[in-house]
Amino acid sequence: MSTLHFERQIKYESELDSQFPKEIMEIPGGEHLATCIQCGTCSGACPLSIYMDHSPRKIIAMTRAGFKDDVLDSRTIWLCASCYSCTVECPKQIKITDTMYALKRKAIKENRYPKGFPVPVLAREFFGIVKKTGRNNERNLLLKLYLKTNVLRLFKQIPIGLKLFFKGRLGLKSEKIKKTKQLQTLLDAVERRTS
Ligand code: SF4
Ligand code: SF4
Repeated sequence: MSTLHFERQIKYESELDSQFPKEIMEIPGGEHLATCIQCGTCSGACPLSIYMDHSPRKIIAMTRAGFKDDVLDSRTIWLCASCYSCTVECPKQIKITDTMYALKRKAIKENRYPKGFPVPVLAREFFGIVKKTGRNNERNLLLKLYLKTNVLRLFKQIPIGLKLFFKGRLGLKSEKIKKTKQLQTLLDAVERRTS
């Protein structure tokens, strides 16, 4: 995975959003951000920080300072694998993982995604398929992902897809649970509660 990225630089204090840290601190998990001492333990413990555009420590600092655009457009919140290493190691017991979730929810609500980055598309399409059928369908998921992010890559995957198909690991039939309406009602309720 490439670590190349272009950082937007805040030049003026007026570009900061003073409401942003308050909004995040009101979300469960974000309450204790103000107590962060910027020790960097979370970044050191994070197995994915080398791939992130901003380390977990920096995301906390930027959130507190009101760098809303930079935080919500960041790849970091999408790369977080929810492993909880940072949360376990934090000397101030800050719920960093939950904060990452809170920031991701905020980004989804505001329809903001890092440009050309496939992870949010994958998450969105996965949710859409599961909500519709109650099951994941790898074939449809990958088709939708590559069609929306990188069509050329789809062609490169065809030989692997064929191998999987002939070994019986990639079916043509789509599975569906019986009570999809109930699942959809449940997921709608969760979405309303977390938005
Ligand atoms: S480990 Fe905790 S206190 Fe240290 S920088 Fe990360 S969030 Fe802040
Ligand atoms: S929960 Fe996310 S931010 Fe924290 S260590 Fe794991 S991957 Fe990194």
